[in-house]
Order: sequence, then structure tokens, then C-alpha cells
Amino acid sequence: MKVKVGINGYGTIGKRVATAVDQQDDMEIVGVTKTRPSFEAAMAVKLGYRLYVPEGREEDFRKAGIKIAGTVTDLFGKADIIVDCTPGGFADGYKRMFEEAGVKAIWQGGEDHSLTGISFNATANYKESWGAQFSRVVSCNTTGLLRTLYPLDKKYGVEDCYVTLIRRSADPGDSKTGPINAVEPSTKLPTHHGPDVQSVMPWIKVHSMAVKVPTTIMHVHAITVRLGKDATTEDVVKLFSKAPRVKLVRTKDGVKSTAEVMEMARDMGRSRGDMFEIVVWEDGIKVEDGMLYYYQAVHQESDVIPENIDCIRSMCKLIEDPAESMAKTDRAMGI
Ligand code: NAD
Repeated sequence: MKVKVGINGYGTIGKRVATAVDQQDDMEIVGVTKTRPSFEAAMAVKLGYRLYVPEGREEDFRKAGIKIAGTVTDLFGKADIIVDCTPGGFADGYKRMFEEAGVKAIWQGGEDHSLTGISFNATANYKESWGAQFSRVVSCNTTGLLRTLYPLDKKYGVEDCYVTLIRRSADPGDSKTGPINAVEPSTKLPTHHGPDVQSVMPWIKVHSMAVKVPTTIMHVHAITVRLGKDATTEDVVKLFSKAPRVKLVRTKDGVKSTAEVMEMARDMGRSRGDMFEIVVWEDGIKVEDGMLYYYQAVHQESDVIPENIDCIRSMCKLIEDPAESMAKTDRAMGI
């Protein structure tokens, strides 16, 4: 029998999780929620999803001509697991509702680790969420850091890691935030990204700083790692070439920036032009005097999507072996 998945909050992340669940043969979408009638709500119905709305909002949707299947409470009662993709700030209320409905739930990186006490990354700690009622898939940036730091730590040991995150200022579908012509440093230091990596790898030392720049398409990380064991540049290239959901690109092939990475994703025929892998510049990897330097790009809208699928499998005890679950997810999503 397929696991019944509900999506709470059908926005940037929610709609992508819905598509990815549709692609799997061991789970199915039983419904998605929207708080207000909008083109996205209408599109969800057009795509065949049953739409659930907050109590008291039914009339707004009917007036807008958008067919609804019931209220959010109805959906929480029908699902085995809810993937909560709402913006930050609503988690406490929903957590109570999920507890009352006796349904499992996954939150996203906008929530703190303390909400669930378990944070998830398929490469690094798949088994920690095994059978759990609640878990949290870490943010896009943290997912990116874990995808490369975990294999590095396993093979060579990470003594210390310094990362500067060059962050996109808004998602492509968002017209509300900025900056649109400035570079904005995060002055609350160190930024939350290092501690967030530690929510999955508590033993690792990561120090992070971040600046926001006027781009919408991807984040870039500039990373320096003091390795515990000797490794050459070629060793690290080999390690990353085999690391799950990491993709090597080269400037000499014309991939000079995030623009070409996104073009590549579109050329690959990916749904919504998504790049689920963390992209590392092969010719930007260098080991010198025990220090490793590299750059990676993170497609913020999509790198966490396969992680949500594996988190569902771990929490619902579908596949015990992380590698097997990841391979199944990746095959279905064309990764
Ligand atoms: P979004 O704004 O694109 O989508 C949020 C959705 O939730 C919208 O459909 C909105 O209508 C709905 N919503 C708003 N209030 C709600 C409420 N009270 N109840 C139910 N639904 C409500 O947000 P997003 O970018 O998809 O982010 C969702 C989560 O994923 C956040 O925790 C965010 O930090 C995290 N995340 C976002 C990104 C990213 O780059 N966009 C990357 C990784 C993780």
C-alpha cells in the first residue's frame, strides 16, 4: 500500500515535493493546502490535487471558482504524513493539529531544530528519523554543506571548516524582497548556517558568514576546510565525483557561473528547470598545505526536494538502507 502524503503550504517547496511524490511508486499525494485562492491554488486543482483550505475560508475559494475537497483538518485526518512547507512562524499551531490528528509531519529548514529534535539529511543521518513522528529537512544551504562535508569528514576528517555563503536575495517567483542593487552582509555572527550543520553532524566545527546579493537563481558557497588526513586535489575530485547528489562542472566546459548551471538544468529537461544536485566547480577545487578550497552552488528551490522523499521513507519505515532509498528517489526523479 502506498504511503498517503499531504502537503501543507503549496508554494516554492510544497509544489516541488508534490511533483516528486507523484514520481515515486511507494507514496501518493492525498491533498495539498492553500490559505487563499490564487493562480497556484487553481493550478494545483488543474494538476489533479485535492485542495484543502482553512476552516472559514471555503467561501473565498468557491467565489473564486476553485474547487475544494475540504478543510485542512480533513486532510490531516486522511494522510499518513504531512510535509509542512509553510513559511516560518506557523509551526507550533500546526504541530498541535498534527498531534491531535495522530499524523506524522516533516518541517523545512525555516523552522528550528528544537521544534522536532531531529533534523534530516539523507547522506548524513537517514536512520535518525527512522519511524519518527516529527522530523525536519534542513535548509537548502545546510543541505548543500552536508552533501559535501559529510563525505569529506568520513574519508579525510574535517578538523575545521570556514564557509562564506553568497546568498540569493529572493526566489525567482518572489517580488517582495531584495536587495535589488546592493550587497547585504549578515551582521549576526556567526550566521545560523554553521550551527544548523551541527544539528545533523554535531561533532563538526563549521564557522559561517553570509552576504545577500541581487540574484534569484542560486546560492554560492566559498568553503575552506582543514583536513585531518593528507589528500591531494585529485583525491577530493574523485571523492566528490562519487558523492551522492553532488555534480562536478568545469569552467573550461563553459560553466562559469550560476547562470550556466541553471541553463544546464533546463537543457537536462528537469521539471521546473530544477538542479537537485549540489554543483561543485571541479577546477575550483584545490588542496594546499592541508587546506582544501572549493566553491559550490546550491539551487535553493530544489536541492531539498529529494531529501523530503527520503525523509518520508525513513519516517514511514519504507526502506531501511539509506543508499537504496536515495537510489530509488533519484531514479524516479531523473537525478
Ligand atoms: P513559499 O512562500 O513559497 O510557500 C509557502 C506556502 O505556504 C504558500 O503556498 C503559502 O500560501 C502557504 N502558507 C502561508 N501561510 C500559511 C499557513 N498559515 N498555513 C498553511 N499554508 C500557508 O515558501 P517556501 O519558499 O516554499 O518555503 C517553505 C519552507 O521551506 C520554509 O520553511 C523555508 O524556509 C523552507 N525552504 C525554502 C527554500 C527556498 O529557497 N524557497 C529552500 C529550502 C527550504
